[in-house]
Amino acid sequence: MADLQGLTQLFAHEMAARLRSGETTAREIAEAHLARAHATDHGLHAWLTIDDERALAEADAADATLAGARAEGPDALAALHPLHGMPVALKDLVSVKGGQCTAGSRILEGYRAPYDAHITERLRAVGVVILGKTNMDEFAMGSSCEHSAFGPTANPWDLERVPGGSSGGSAASVAAFQTPLSIGTDTGGSIRQPAALCGIVGMKPTYGRVSRYGIVAFASSLDQIGPFARDVRDAAALLHAVSGRDERDSTSAPEPVAEDLVNLPASDDEAASWLRGKRFGVPREYFVEGMEPGVAAAIRTAVADLERAGATVEEVSLPHTDYGLASYYIVAPAEASANLARYDGVRFGHAVTDGADYLADYLVTRGSGFGPEVKRRVMLGTYALSAGYYDAFYLKALKVRTLIKRDFDVLFDAGFDALVGPTSPDVAFRFGAKLADPVKMYLSDACTLPVNMAGLPGISIPCGLSEGLPVGLQLIGPAWSEGVLMRAARAYEGVTASADWRRVRPHDLAKLAGAGLPTPAERIASR
Ligand code: GLN
Repeated sequence: MADLQGLTQLFAHEMAARLRSGETTAREIAEAHLARAHATDHGLHAWLTIDDERALAEADAADATLAGARAEGPDALAALHPLHGMPVALKDLVSVKGGQCTAGSRILEGYRAPYDAHITERLRAVGVVILGKTNMDEFAMGSSCEHSAFGPTANPWDLERVPGGSSGGSAASVAAFQTPLSIGTDTGGSIRQPAALCGIVGMKPTYGRVSRYGIVAFASSLDQIGPFARDVRDAAALLHAVSGRDERDSTSAPEPVAEDLVNLPASDDEAASWLRGKRFGVPREYFVEGMEPGVAAAIRTAVADLERAGATVEEVSLPHTDYGLASYYIVAPAEASANLARYDGVRFGHAVTDGADYLADYLVTRGSGFGPEVKRRVMLGTYALSAGYYDAFYLKALKVRTLIKRDFDVLFDAGFDALVGPTSPDVAFRFGAKLADPVKMYLSDACTLPVNMAGLPGISIPCGLSEGLPVGLQLIGPAWSEGVLMRAARAYEGVTASADWRRVRPHDLAKLAGAGLPTPAERIASR
């Protein structure tokens, strides 16, 4: 009998090795994670649904495929994807046929997805086991998960703090060992920032790397799907599984998927040796005003570690960084206001209707179905797109977007392999700390959203602690450099493999298993 509690503590690549050697089964792996998720989620609230029945059926299917491959011979076994039989959680905006898909909103309550998203199909095709759906800020608008209509998620490092957002449930579930892998989306930082705040790895790929077919849209020219994991090898394998061209999303690219993603070195020394002769830039503008000193210190230490391993690091400038926030908060709400027009009480989910007056029904449906942040964005976006203001705001923001992209082009044309800096200016903050001041919340993404505006890939990896809480190091590369970024991130893991902070586990893991723990919403209400 396998040690079930022990299985959840492993990386996916370690579980996969045990699965192939016959030491465990996909069913045992799924059961261990389902049991842990059920036992520890009341006080965390990372999940909106856990689907035991579906997950176990998928695990049994993965075991059957594995048995078939074993019987066929070593080639068939080797042809299975590295993540075959591994559990994954999906942010609750990814369509799974027949399952709920709320996008964290009341307006989609009761809606059931009529088809699988492209990435759902891809995950099934490689034999991944989908455990369930995770909590998120409503329509992915937010940086703390506090804008979920179903109550916030807590951070396993400190249950009084946010996990980041909008993909907070996906990040918290991985950090709490409820799943080794999860999927998020990143429009302005929603994968990288929660990865940083929860002390795990998260990547936003190049725009077009992963098909958005079957994903609830926020801002279509910025949204990208990406992986969370507890180490770089697992994140890279998950990205590999979902990447590639899909006819149903015209913005998905035919660019070949980097095979590097499933061949990252297992040895720390070998991984670290990659850094020799590489050239990194540190954007001076990313050390923003008001940044937490402990975060800045951890980033400086990480930069020194890269240099020690043989990389050259130079200070560089991305002069239009300052305009990122202002232009993002025109472009993203403008696209959101158009995308969210479809929630009219007729086609999807929530509807309040007395049947007498269509317009009145529409207003009541949207008024009661959307939360305050979503309404704020729809109003901002509608205003920015309205006649007379379109040129002054939307068109201007698009021009600034081009300037932001050019800043990056100049540096990558000059031969930098990647840019290195902070993911977030601060560590996980307390519930409520930024809720009353939207601009303060928006500033959480000052270092991530320029990357979306430029369509580039970026990854956040743990690089130490500030006041006991995780700090994320962000690496940004040119378009389609996911393979290189993963190598660089893996190299940094290699260089810091023996660092003390790597041994520190989320402080509140033990509390989560305790009986009678209130939910995060109950804890906040009782303050
Ligand atoms: N926090 C940013 C926003 O609210 C980014 C969110 C995201 O990446 N989905 O728009």
